[in-house]
Amino acid sequence: MIDGNMFASDNYSGICPSAWQALEQANRGFGRAYGDDEWTRRACDALRDFFETDCQVFFVFNGTAGNSLALASLCRSYHSIICHELAHVETDECGASEFFSNGTKVLLVPGAEGKVDLDAVRYTVERRTDIHYPMPKALSLTQSTEVGTVYSLNEMAAAGDLAQELGLKLHIDGARFANALASLKVSPADISWRAGVDVLTFGGTKNGMPVGEAVIFFDRDLAQEFDFRCKQAGQLASKMRFLAAPWAGMLEAGALLDNATHANAMARLLAQQLTRIAGITQVHPVQGNAVFVQMPETLIESLHSAGWHFYTFIGSGHARFMCSWQTREEDVRGFVMEVEKLACLQKI
Ligand SMILES: *Cc1c(COP(=O)(O)O)cnc(C)c1O
Repeated sequence: MIDGNMFASDNYSGICPSAWQALEQANRGFGRAYGDDEWTRRACDALRDFFETDCQVFFVFNGTAGNSLALASLCRSYHSIICHELAHVETDECGASEFFSNGTKVLLVPGAEGKVDLDAVRYTVERRTDIHYPMPKALSLTQSTEVGTVYSLNEMAAAGDLAQELGLKLHIDGARFANALASLKVSPADISWRAGVDVLTFGGTKNGMPVGEAVIFFDRDLAQEFDFRCKQAGQLASKMRFLAAPWAGMLEAGALLDNATHANAMARLLAQQLTRIAGITQVHPVQGNAVFVQMPETLIESLHSAGWHFYTFIGSGHARFMCSWQTREEDVRGFVMEVEKLACLQKI
């Protein structure tokens, strides 16, 4: 029996085996609270190994908190944050960045395929330098993007160079950073701090954890008092070991990249199979675990009535199908057969 929820989002997936196993181990006996425990130390060290640098690591419950608290730590209230007009920070976080930074304004820039246009960033910074304009202080990029594309090494380095030139701190919303790593096959260090990234919100939830994202400061000075900011925002877990254990377990087992590699492969297969059906066209390159397609409204409706749950308002507003560590090849093929059947009935 196929589950109609399986392509709705990668956060519809369950907990992957290595995260589950680590949780089970962390559940034995007692552990110190508020991050002063062995699991948290192990997870932080595993992340330092992963990024080959002595970064400062914090665990929070979700991406909205990770993004908004990280951005708030880069800005004062009279500053501004530049991001893509489709960025989660702008469209899906209920103004959390503005709230936690006490009013820092988010300035939007356009850009093809969900990536910020660097000329537009420059224009946004340079068009006004007077006292009446909120001073741009941070650039936030989403990797992989809201439409399932990936900034290449060169693109990230160019963004890093521009940020440095313009005096902006560079933040990455990496809710799907693992998918970008799996797609680019580059070292985590190269596509982050070596490219000029100051802070990364690294997603765990969508890649097989039950909950939890890591906020990683490559510039340790920027992490000053971040622990207080987390506590005040209700993001300091008292049983921190259960947020940290999945990171330790998955990193030590290599599951972080394995899961993302699998999810990406399933997305490529899904795109390839779906676009063989007449009337369905791919909208964005499939570089991560998202597939965006254009399909007739009647087909969307009949899929929905047949119990297939998926979104049509995210990113560029086309039908979006997400794959995860849990998506199986037979699920993809089974779904495509259903789409074919419904499309055929409608004589598309
Ligand atoms: C899912 C997601 C987040 C985090 O969302 P939460 O629901 O707050 O965990 C952040 N950024 C992007 C691009 C996402 O897709």
